[in-house]
Amino acid sequence: MAYIEFKDIDKFYGKNHVLKGINLEIEQGDFVTLLGPSGCGKSTLLRCLAGLEQTSGGQIILDGEDITQKDPKDRNIGMVFQQYSLFPNMTVKENLAFGLKLQKLPADEIEKRVKDSVEMVELIGKENEYPSNLSGGQQQRVALARGIVMRPKVLLLDEPLSAIDAKLRKSLQTSIREIHKELGLTSVFVTHDQDEAMVMSDVIHLFHNGIIEQSGNPVNIYTKPATSFAAGFIGNYNILDKKDMKQLTGKDWSGDVAIRPETLRISREQITTGESYKMQGVILDRVPRGNVLRYKVRTNNVDVHVDVLFRSASMYEIGDTAFMALADHNCVRL
Ligand code: ADP
Ligand code: MG
Repeated sequence: MAYIEFKDIDKFYGKNHVLKGINLEIEQGDFVTLLGPSGCGKSTLLRCLAGLEQTSGGQIILDGEDITQKDPKDRNIGMVFQQYSLFPNMTVKENLAFGLKLQKLPADEIEKRVKDSVEMVELIGKENEYPSNLSGGQQQRVALARGIVMRPKVLLLDEPLSAIDAKLRKSLQTSIREIHKELGLTSVFVTHDQDEAMVMSDVIHLFHNGIIEQSGNPVNIYTKPATSFAAGFIGNYNILDKKDMKQLTGKDWSGDVAIRPETLRISREQITTGESYKMQGVILDRVPRGNVLRYKVRTNNVDVHVDVLFRSASMYEIGDTAFMALADHNCVRL
């Protein structure tokens, strides 16, 4: 049996049907990400699990126990939010000890747990600082420490890195993964950022309008999108309908097809290798995107994006002729 089970979870806000019969299982020890655009219901599901929000229907099981009606404080779930929500009038240490004191743990146990958590989030030396003296990244580390100091069964993280600048975000991503592993936590992470989901997760659940559109490990989700929405949200796919595909390849197709930009091969000479489909086109545009150049190529009135690594690129100019080749196994039927 899975560690966490959502069974037919519905949630309405008035007439707004926000979660539409969610069925989801999470294995113990996994780092699981709910990925999707803003407003699709990710936070709502997380808040239902934490007990901060009541479900309108369905059941939530944690470790074999039905917790659907249980008080949030009895669920043994830690939570970290985008806004750090620290007590401004308390030091780091006091922020961390707060929940433990409410639980009336002995002073030496509190001391030990606070020390362990501070070490884990790499804030040694900051114990007596107030939040206002810390950077955003450091404050989020305190919030993370507060999430784990109670030794929760499950750690929930709702877009915890969205307000943190890009460089610090990487180091916090690493810290979160390490803490997850070291404590043997089961973690549920929410983000709208596909790259972040890819880096962090054992399993990704792609959300769309209150349903789960697709679930899988990062490689699976990236290489085998099941729907147009999945292909559009992840991996910058070219999405072509059957008419476009016919123009591009000369053969008949039964529905939409997704093609990743880096799977189209591009050459100055006619291509004679074994790929199924060969095309000739003209370069319409080119844009640097990180370590690749993204070309827009028009062929038989169909425009596709093609990514080429900078170092391997003899650069094409706009208006140049380009030959392309595409293997059939890189045409993902949606
Ligand atoms: P996400 O986290 O994926 O961005 P949310 O779960 O926050 O999405 O929101 C899903 C939908 O529920 C949105 O349409 C949002 O406006 C609505 N919603 C969220 N919280 C409330 C609330 N407390 N009251 C009314 N509507 C809400
Ligand atoms: Mg949200």
